[in-house]
Amino acid sequence: MQTHGVFKGIANNMHKYGHFMSLRVVCPNCKSTGVIAHNNEVSEDMDGLFLIDLYCHCHNPDCYASFVVQAGHGLQSATTTKATATGSQAAQLKIRLQKYLPAEGETIDPALAATRPNAAKVQNCITALDNYGQGANVLNAHVQQRLESFLDDMNVAAAVKEIDSVINDAPPSCTNIKTIAGTLAGATDRYLNAASSALDELDQGITDYDAGDMERPSFEALLDRIAGDLTSSIAGVTGLVSNEVQKVEEMYKIHKQMARSFSVQALIQDDCVRPYLVQLAGPQLSQVLVDDFNVSDLIEQA
Ligand SMILES: [Zn+2]
Repeated sequence: MQTHGVFKGIANNMHKYGHFMSLRVVCPNCKSTGVIAHNNEVSEDMDGLFLIDLYCHCHNPDCYASFVVQAGHGLQSATTTKATATGSQAAQLKIRLQKYLPAEGETIDPALAATRPNAAKVQNCITALDNYGQGANVLNAHVQQRLESFLDDMNVAAAVKEIDSVINDAPPSCTNIKTIAGTLAGATDRYLNAASSALDELDQGITDYDAGDMERPSFEALLDRIAGDLTSSIAGVTGLVSNEVQKVEEMYKIHKQMARSFSVQALIQDDCVRPYLVQLAGPQLSQVLVDDFNVSDLIEQA
């Protein structure tokens, strides 16, 4: 039985405290109260997955059913934590940089302007921070969505892997599966780590500049460099995300084609269905029959 919501809480607590012996659950047979007798963590060696079987007894004397409830929390990715942390750091740094820009409607006299860092450079860095933050949100949404479909994706990828291996007469390879796991498995981490260092450096640079420990030209050079680093980091992230979306789509497409071919193959082998299939095939299916099953002679006869 798949469980969500309420059991998620139970499972998290069980994870924390070991086990509860008297937690009540609803008996699926008679709907009266049952208790958890013992539990077995089935995801012991699987990172990011927590799954536990709860062995339960019904307390209703007319029922006494035994049943197993499976509880757990879903998969999670460390990438989300990194993207969120760097995204909020970028937002804070944006605010710190804004103080160097004239407030709306403010006219600054040239003497004051000369003491501030170049407004265009400040603005350029703010824009880079902004774009980085948006990119981090895109990555988070993508990872979340991929986590939700991870087990389906892996099922399809595993099937495609076997099919590839048969078609190419080669041993099954994990290459496609690694590509599909992509961002979930930390493919963007190097970009996030680079961004994190750049953000830390900017943070320190603002502090040093404000304290008079960094000269204006050095600070302006820092702004330029950090803007460049953040821009290339987030370009790397979004590149990987869109590549991955495309790969997943391709994989499902292959899988669908295979499934279609397999079902057509099964039907072709059925002597009762076969004549109708050949007779009624539209252009698209005729193409599959000719290309994949070499039945052009039958189509001509029909
Ligand atoms: Zn019962």
